[in-house]
Amino acid sequence: MNPTFLQTPIDYLKGVGPNRADLLRAELGIHTYQDLIHLFPNRYIDRTRYYTISELERNSADVQVIGKVTSLKMVEGKGRRLVATFKDDGGVMELVWFRGQKWIRESIKLNTTYVIFGKTNYYNGKFSMPHPEMELLADHKKSLRSAMQPVYPSTEKLSNKGITNKVVNALMQTLFIEAKNHLYESLSKPIVEALKLMSKREALLNIHFPQSQGDLARAQYRLKFEEFFYIQLQLAFKNRMHKTKIKGYPFEKIGDNFNNFYNNHLPFELTGAQKRVLKEIRHDLGSNAQMSRLLQGDVGSGKTIVALLSMLIALDNGFQACLMAPTEILSVQHYNGLLELCKPLNTRISLLTGSTKTSSRKIIHEQLESGELQILIGTHALLEDKVKFKNLGLAVIDEQHRFGVKQRSKLWHKNEFPPHVLVMTATPIPRTLAMTVYGDLDVSIIDELPPGRKSIKTVHRYDANRLKVFAFIRDEIKKGRQVYIVYPLIQESEAMDYKDLMDGYESISREFPLPDFQISIVHGKMKPADKDYEMQRFINGETQIMVATTVIEVGVNVPNASVMIIESAERFGLSQLHQLRGRVGRGAEQSYCILMTSFKLSSDSKTRLETMTRTNDGFEIAEVDLKLRGPGDITGTQQSGVLHLKIGDIIRDNDILKVARSYAWGVVKDDPTFAKAENQIIRFMYAQMVKFKNIWSYIS
Ligand code: ADP
Ligand code: MG
Repeated sequence: MNPTFLQTPIDYLKGVGPNRADLLRAELGIHTYQDLIHLFPNRYIDRTRYYTISELERNSADVQVIGKVTSLKMVEGKGRRLVATFKDDGGVMELVWFRGQKWIRESIKLNTTYVIFGKTNYYNGKFSMPHPEMELLADHKKSLRSAMQPVYPSTEKLSNKGITNKVVNALMQTLFIEAKNHLYESLSKPIVEALKLMSKREALLNIHFPQSQGDLARAQYRLKFEEFFYIQLQLAFKNRMHKTKIKGYPFEKIGDNFNNFYNNHLPFELTGAQKRVLKEIRHDLGSNAQMSRLLQGDVGSGKTIVALLSMLIALDNGFQACLMAPTEILSVQHYNGLLELCKPLNTRISLLTGSTKTSSRKIIHEQLESGELQILIGTHALLEDKVKFKNLGLAVIDEQHRFGVKQRSKLWHKNEFPPHVLVMTATPIPRTLAMTVYGDLDVSIIDELPPGRKSIKTVHRYDANRLKVFAFIRDEIKKGRQVYIVYPLIQESEAMDYKDLMDGYESISREFPLPDFQISIVHGKMKPADKDYEMQRFINGETQIMVATTVIEVGVNVPNASVMIIESAERFGLSQLHQLRGRVGRGAEQSYCILMTSFKLSSDSKTRLETMTRTNDGFEIAEVDLKLRGPGDITGTQQSGVLHLKIGDIIRDNDILKVARSYAWGVVKDDPTFAKAENQIIRFMYAQMVKFKNIWSYIS
């Protein structure tokens, strides 16, 4: 027995020459026997079923028909093609070839019974099948095939170069004959037994050559479980390494700053969720390991106060803290807010942004290095080399998705020990995904809004009803409220989008004329100073309407704004719609979000609009978003690599993922060095993965 047999390069497999090997490597990433055996079918075709031509339906894939070719002709013209008339007892259809016509012409036997297989088209009242798979009925009867025929992932290039599904099938058969003594169990015995899993060998056999639906289902379960298990094992391992290896300053004391503020100056009672999250953070800060925690909470859920209380703990232990936000406006808002809250505490807080004057900047630098300055709030300016903390103990980063990972680690390396890091985000990462992607980060969730919030009323209106919407806006402004009107701005169609924005601005200016109405406009082409000026006028209540692109998406807090109009809402993604809606509903008044669209809507757009009008729950929205777009597009997860799953699907197979996760984390907790006899298989697999970089490619 040779455990590395499966690492044999694919070139050595019978039927794979140098050309095919190159193609398999380039197109499917198949380098070794192991890679090929783990090329799992996308789906299975039922080849026990035969259709008659009269039974065919439009655009059916994978149909099998028995009949005869009665004539063949070339059809000249732009799409030069070979067309065969194909008949069975009750009907007629056409077979069509655009390529390889000469060969087909010479090899096809007229008036002989064939079994054809492929995808049907329907055009001008007639069915046709382009490039069918064909087999003489006599041969077809002789060939042994299982009822469920696997369909493997492929690419256009592969099929053009003759590596069809049939070929892959044949290679798989050859491989199994060679490899059958080298398919070892890859999960530990206690796990296989506890879950009554199919053995590895049986599972591989049944995934490629299923004997029954039941066996196939068990094989799929087993292989999905294994895939999730080893990914989770990596995450659990990384998490443990982080906790044991990366030392942090232990903040053992809860002192005057925290206690005084908590007992005497909290402006409201914390929600249950805020208290729970604070406890989680306190626990992290008090341990010897560096905290690396993601705080998720929907817009308005009250993350800021949690950040402040955490920073006060740092201060109580003689350390400094900083809070970094993605824009100048957000930094200023945080600064003003925290200054107000900390007034009774005598805390030294400063603001540092790109527009801080050189003279004040110098003072800040000095006070920061002497330790006099306790809390620094700001933008990217915090990351400049000149900014040196005496002892930064906690870095809070707001609205994480605007910062790259690199920037974060820069802050982290400011002093000799890494500060504790709390990353706050209002972009809810679906629980399903968080479990896979952020398994090594600790995640806290504020899943409860402060009491008394009126939920935002969301409606969908067609452009044709614009006048009614304008009337509604007028009423709200008369009541003293403010209104956002947001236009899409997408890079690919930037010029058109700016035109829409300016046209919209003009028509709104006509509809809401001076001097009764004041309008602000903010978009990306403005100078930052002008943008801030316009924004500030709206924040101060000098203007009643803010016309803008999505630049206002993040964080801006104008509690008096109660209406959010989103133009061309069908063009926005769900999470963006939800973020935008979060700009209203921050005050005591009833707030509204109006989604404007044209009549023409795709089914995905309809789902998005329906979801928005149905719920305000960011997590629910994120789950729908994930289903619509797939995990690749969800913010912040692109680099995570979880998309390279071979068989598991984190949404559809979420139940299996949960089981795998609990087993994997259990193993790492119970036997972190995989020393127990029963875990030797896991230890071996783990080493293999590191060596051959299989699973590693999933992770980093
Ligand atoms: P976000 O999580 O979006 O950053 P903020 O921290 O800005 O939310 O809080 C939104 C608003 O809710 C603020 O005005 C804040 O003062 C208020 N708030 C936060 N927590 C509570 C609470 N427990 N009770 C009442 N109001 C709260
Ligand atoms: Mg916030």
